Amino acid sequence: MYKTKDPFNTSQITLSKSAVRQNVKFIKKQIGEKVRLSAVVKGNAYGHGIEQMVKIFEKNEVNHLSVFSAHEAWRACQVKEEETTVMIMGWIHDEQISWAIENQVQFYVFDIDRLKETINRAKKIGQKAIIHLEIETGMNRTGLEEKFFPKAIELIKKNQEHLIFEGLCTHYAGAESISNYLRIKDQINLFHQYAEHFEKNGLTPNVKHTACSAAVIAYPETHMDMVRVGILLYGFWPSRETFIHHKKSNGYDGNGKERSRDPLKRVITWKSRVMALKNLPMGEFVGYGTSYQAPKNMKIATVPVGYAYGFSRSLSNQGRVIVNGQRVAVIGIVNMNLLIINISEAKNVKRDDEVIMIGSQGKVKITVASFGEMSNQLNYELLSRIPMDIPREVVD
Ligand SMILES: *Cc1c(COP(=O)(O)O)cnc(C)c1O
Repeated sequence: MYKTKDPFNTSQITLSKSAVRQNVKFIKKQIGEKVRLSAVVKGNAYGHGIEQMVKIFEKNEVNHLSVFSAHEAWRACQVKEEETTVMIMGWIHDEQISWAIENQVQFYVFDIDRLKETINRAKKIGQKAIIHLEIETGMNRTGLEEKFFPKAIELIKKNQEHLIFEGLCTHYAGAESISNYLRIKDQINLFHQYAEHFEKNGLTPNVKHTACSAAVIAYPETHMDMVRVGILLYGFWPSRETFIHHKKSNGYDGNGKERSRDPLKRVITWKSRVMALKNLPMGEFVGYGTSYQAPKNMKIATVPVGYAYGFSRSLSNQGRVIVNGQRVAVIGIVNMNLLIINISEAKNVKRDDEVIMIGSQGKVKITVASFGEMSNQLNYELLSRIPMDIPREVVD
């Protein structure tokens, strides 16, 4: 378990319970009462902290968790309530399959080898394995290919006393961008066709699930029995396109402000402090090398957060932070342990003042999306690279 209070760390994270409540409410409104919501907590819950987020999700009646690996499943199992379901969507080593079966951790099966291994281990343990068959519909990543369906059907039918055929699922190859529309539509059609094929052969899964956040918003027909939602739960849009799609389909015509308001709330605030201040005469270069030269006499400050602490080096001369309610620019190269900001225009900045890397202060907001786009990285990457050892405090 990671400590929530660590007075010596150079930055701190707070997680907002009320933001999660609002995001869950928003998603439930999109999917309706009958569709189950699985919270995706891979990547250390998108950098937020898996242990803390599992507890918060459970308080909001989300009792299904999706993870990438057996390791993440294990971490979730250390803190979750007994009745909460954990589902591994990716990596599980053969040797970890027994642990999963014994702990009723559900997992994806996407090749015949894993299916056979699962059956053998379930037999030996004398307990049923709960599997989700991930099928290939065009993502071309994991997914079981059509040519292996007969073998899979045969094995599952023959071993019903060792298996629970819990899910049939697939994943879309970029539902957050309209440029992938045809590819996604093809995937949806194929999925239905394949699901019918399994059913005709006497195999009906308990749940069919295909949708991630972007699909929840842009392709309502993908909701089926369950949706696997990550980024939206943390209060971020998968892409600007998805947000605009949502606004358009909710009657916002592009005029006025009221209905364009963001229904999501950011859960994370990541902050540090001003370490030191300095005057910089015109013509001087800042930090390593020559990437930033003062165009006039300036005031600068250092913040003890660098790329080793999750602030990407690609935000050199690009990133923004908030200090004293004012948005200021990161100048020069982001160092391993610190970054430098331009406070020439900011008022009253003192040593020890709070600096916000992600989150808001007063009316000013730093969204990862805003600097994510600047650096051509997605929210997903910036968030999930926030180090695990930064203390996380859960607040209202
Ligand atoms: C990451 C992931 C999701 C969730 O994606 P979001 O865009 O964050 O909602 C769903 N399904 C699978 C298989 C994933 O890998």
